[in-house]
Amino acid sequence: RVRVRFAPSPTGHLHIGGARTALFNYLFARRHGGDFLVRIEDTDQKRNVEGGEAKLLDSLRWLGLEWDEGVDVGGPHGPYRCMDRLDIYRAHAERLLAEGKAYYCYCTEEELAAEREALMARGEMPRYLGKCRNLTPEERAALEREGRKPSVRFRVPEGREYVVDDLVRGTVRFETSGVGGDFVILRPDGVPTYNFAVVIDDHLMGITHVIRGEEHLSNTPRQLMIYEAFGWEPPRFAHLSLILNPNRQKMSKRDESIIQFIEQYRALGYLPEALVNFLVLLGWAPEGEHAEREFFTLDELVRLFSLERVSKAPAVFDPERLRWMNNHYLRQRPAEEIAKLAHPHLVAAGRLPQTLSDDRWQWLVDLVALFQEQMGCAADIVPLSELFFRENVDYNEEAKAVLAEPHVPAVLAAFRREAEALDAWSADAVKSALKAAQKATGHKGKQLFMPIRVAVTGQTHGPDLAQTLYLLGRERVIARLARAME
Ligand code: GLU
Repeated sequence: RVRVRFAPSPTGHLHIGGARTALFNYLFARRHGGDFLVRIEDTDQKRNVEGGEAKLLDSLRWLGLEWDEGVDVGGPHGPYRCMDRLDIYRAHAERLLAEGKAYYCYCTEEELAAEREALMARGEMPRYLGKCRNLTPEERAALEREGRKPSVRFRVPEGREYVVDDLVRGTVRFETSGVGGDFVILRPDGVPTYNFAVVIDDHLMGITHVIRGEEHLSNTPRQLMIYEAFGWEPPRFAHLSLILNPNRQKMSKRDESIIQFIEQYRALGYLPEALVNFLVLLGWAPEGEHAEREFFTLDELVRLFSLERVSKAPAVFDPERLRWMNNHYLRQRPAEEIAKLAHPHLVAAGRLPQTLSDDRWQWLVDLVALFQEQMGCAADIVPLSELFFRENVDYNEEAKAVLAEPHVPAVLAAFRREAEALDAWSADAVKSALKAAQKATGHKGKQLFMPIRVAVTGQTHGPDLAQTLYLLGRERVIARLARAME
């Protein structure tokens, strides 16, 4: 039975790279009727953020990536948080100590730093030279008496080669001479290092496939050594290529060319199905008849996904493509739903209050419907709807040229008269006023609409005119007509 896991650190933010890793794991599990686990790797305690785990899980669920086992939902292989598993790591470290595959190291941080510097000064690769590798019991006792707290180091086999038969990258070979010497598996405070914990956890949790970012490829030989030391069969590995920013550079956390976290996209009014659809195509492509397709639901992806179709070339993150995909999904949703996503952005822009009357809410829904086709994300409502929230319009050169045409005063006057005469102000009523102005002036089509649009909005292009006029409100429309006619 396939069992895979997503194992983030609880930093509180789900990075797009992490989200893609989680998605690929999820799809692989579902594709094979297996289990998808979520485990929290919180042993790097400096990086842990208060409440970070809950936020991260919330983002995962929002994307629709439900897990079968792990934090929050439990399961038979828990606990699913590394810091709740310290006894387990300790017991396993003791087993290696007893078998001579690991040993206590008493070197202090300062001593280790000095060793590294000395090596680098000689132009050599920094590594642990094995000072504590063969301490006698007497030497150990003496170091203990100095009050030194030991870490546990793994004894790296010498002169060996470890081969990762990666499902994405193919065969990758590592010499043991390249791993930097015996490495720490348990710190003096009893907290394991990542490379140790991940092996114990993946083994005890019955993980069959490790699908993770390429940045972990170089960790894999260390992990293979630990599997070997315990006599465990390692899982299969699949390392996913890097995601590059739009300038084709490696992304850094501070990279401003791109929005990097799922919760930021959510706040901007991106839809989870758009993100899933976009992320899956970062390094994966469907096969055969589906190869040219752009849009997939999560269920379709479950049927189509395979690791064989994952590319080892880096993927380039194109935010315009994400906007385009999100637009596709936004258009399919009811306007009410998009209005809910758009409202907070109008509040933040100081355009609407937090609480809206029923009428005003309906107005907002209609406003959103007017622009829904053009929205890359719900936050776009702010620039798109700007002219609905200001008192006056400005006329640029193009607008002035339109308004200067000889037939325009008659059109504007006629429409103004009809608009003022309407009993009620509705989109249909506005349409009838436009018709009446056509009859009265003999101008129709662009001749009629363009001057009115320009007078009222200052723009030569825009969404449906009757609906725009209706949503602007009668007072504004008439005031702007009057100004244009001055
Ligand atoms: N905690 C690691 C990370 O967030 C997980 C690595 C792995 O999947 O083995 O990158």
